Amino acid sequence: MQPQIIAIANQKGGVGKTTTCANLGIGLAAAGKAPLLVDCDAQGSLSISLGYAQPDKLPFTLSTAMERILLDEPIAYREGILQHEEGIDLIPANIELSGLEVSLVNAMSRETILRQYLDTVKHQYSHVLIDCQPSLGMLTVNALAAADRVIIPVQAEYLPIKGLEQLLQTIAKVRRQLNPKLKIDGILLTMVDNRTTFAREIASLVREAYGGAIRVFATEIPHSVRAKEISAEGKSIFAHDPNGRVAEGYRNLTQEVLQIEKQCEKRKTGFCR
Ligand code: ADP
Ligand code: MG
Repeated sequence: MQPQIIAIANQKGGVGKTTTCANLGIGLAAAGKAPLLVDCDAQGSLSISLGYAQPDKLPFTLSTAMERILLDEPIAYREGILQHEEGIDLIPANIELSGLEVSLVNAMSRETILRQYLDTVKHQYSHVLIDCQPSLGMLTVNALAAADRVIIPVQAEYLPIKGLEQLLQTIAKVRRQLNPKLKIDGILLTMVDNRTTFAREIASLVREAYGGAIRVFATEIPHSVRAKEISAEGKSIFAHDPNGRVAEGYRNLTQEVLQIEKQCEKRKTGFCR
């Protein structure tokens, strides 16, 4: 099977994109897959959460790779790719990525620089997960242009409807103009606190409003302080609290994502629902 490129996107910050990218990635590794995680956020939160506490000191990051593509310079085999002890590879990011994003504006093929880079590395992997930054700017467009599929984490703690419309419009535009094969895997409800009726109401509101047109994953990621703790530890939820509810959630999400792939593989065409 072709490597699956999955963007984790939502222009709202703090909705669980980075946590989902890290733990879905490590969940896929635990299920016997070979994932590459790509930090596409100048904040470097994914790199930090996987244990690279000072991404600014790394000699080669995503911005180095994209710059080489822009300048038509060679990249050595596996150059800059870091290996995490839980079975995933990582292309880290740091603040230099925001400078790179600015320089993209005047570049030729500016929307497909990330795709061109991933084309050189993706064949070593079963999955490439891209952790997007909280904006709909050029880097997120690059991620959507490179992706086969998008997962949209939504925090079940506020009314997300308006921001989602903008994101769905951007996805539709990227599909029309840059990447016709792009599919939405689904909306993932994160930080669901089942003890509050508010969280339950948001969850069912999202299912009602979007469930007809877009899959809302059956898996909901529960809210837990255990999930908060891991960002500081450089470990996944599976290493930190393997028997907890959040680990269970990400295990279930991993299975759901693999299930979607199987269905798509069978059908090959159309929207995989
Ligand atoms: P984003 O990448 O969308 O900005 P993050 O994954 O960084 O979101 O999550 C935002 C904050 O919420 C982080 O502090 C993270 O540790 C915390 N968090 C993520 N998932 C959960 C969860 N299931 N329960 C509680 N806190 C969470
Ligand atoms: Mg993030």
